[in-house]
Amino acid sequence: MTMNEANKNRPYDPLKVTPPGSVIGVLGGGQLGRMLALAGKAMGYRFVTLDPTPDAPCGQVADRQIVAAYDDAAAARTLAEEADVITYEFENVDAGVTELLMRESYVPQGSELLYTTQHRLREKRAIEAAGVKVAPYAEVASAAELREAVERFGTPCVLKTATGGYDGKGQWVIRSLDEVEEAFETLSRAKTELVLEQFIRFEREISVIAARSPRGEVKAFPPAENIHVNNILHLSIVPARAPEGVLKRAEEMALQIAEKLDVIGLIAVEMFLTSDGELFVNELAPRPHNSGHYTMEACRTSQFEQHLRAVCNLPLGDPSLLVPVVMVNVLGEHVAPLLEWIQNPESQSAVPGVTAKLHLYGKEEAKAGRKMGHVNLLADRAENAFRWIELSGVWESK
Ligand code: AMP
Repeated sequence: MTMNEANKNRPYDPLKVTPPGSVIGVLGGGQLGRMLALAGKAMGYRFVTLDPTPDAPCGQVADRQIVAAYDDAAAARTLAEEADVITYEFENVDAGVTELLMRESYVPQGSELLYTTQHRLREKRAIEAAGVKVAPYAEVASAAELREAVERFGTPCVLKTATGGYDGKGQWVIRSLDEVEEAFETLSRAKTELVLEQFIRFEREISVIAARSPRGEVKAFPPAENIHVNNILHLSIVPARAPEGVLKRAEEMALQIAEKLDVIGLIAVEMFLTSDGELFVNELAPRPHNSGHYTMEACRTSQFEQHLRAVCNLPLGDPSLLVPVVMVNVLGEHVAPLLEWIQNPESQSAVPGVTAKLHLYGKEEAKAGRKMGHVNLLADRAENAFRWIELSGVWESK
């Protein structure tokens, strides 16, 4: 088989490199795009982003923003004309737009992985086909099927919509058989398939971000331990507090998924770790991920630089950890107390050995629950970072 035949159906070219100086197009202008552009501009790339909100977080640091809806074909065509390579920073990319961009520009990530990860059932099947475990699940098409599956898995178990859910939305934890009808009826309104999952009594939630480039190189970042509050990520702790062997296995699972799913760029793999050391994959995200923000100062290469290296087919950077770190998310309600705290001289010296690195995304409206920024706390020990968080008082009212 020749190289051309082997790559006939692939959206990427293993030999094509997009060198610094080129223009990178980013579909979506949120914080992930912003941090991609900040990393890429340091390397000499130029950026054009497409987002409907004027002065979007990425638009503020990109060379240019096209202000238009994500499914605006004329705007997508302009993006294709201006960019040498295109990536995306969110997952619900319109299928027609992706097709147009692939036809008229270069989108090495393609559309197949987006298609897979936009739908929980397709995603679970793909993870299993890659030889990696997910929590036991069943597709349920009626209340009767749901009842049968709940009886099989036992309670509690979790009913989820196949599409459209995020940050815990589109989910129902079924605690007794009495809830079956109501849960089915409520989630059915989403007009998508439903999937029932066994409830995993996890000890920790961890995530691994892996990168793969067209030349076939793969690398994984150290696993993060993630703590959610109200279904929104609150803390990522690195190194994750789990045995070495478990962390190694988690990295291997992410690398296996990156290779088997023919990933280009980043893939974030969220997992549950049980008390007997078993790992189940919960979700994938084919993009930079909130649980990888810790890499910005704590690793030799950040997830954003790594994503660009992968998409541009440069050699991947060394992902290894330089210093232990705790990332804490800044939501709308945290902004005012945080701004006050960082002006206090004590904020940099409150806990010896802790250095706080502030990141704000440039969003205008600080709505409660909205991700506005994060702080990376470089610390010799995680306890010291927790102490800093406590002393700041910023996250008390959560
Ligand atoms: P998801 O939208 O699938 O990421 O789920 C949001 C959160 O709900 C996860 O981070 C877990 O804390 C919890 N969760 C989801 N699925 C399960 C499950 N099968 N077992 C236990 N907890 C779950």
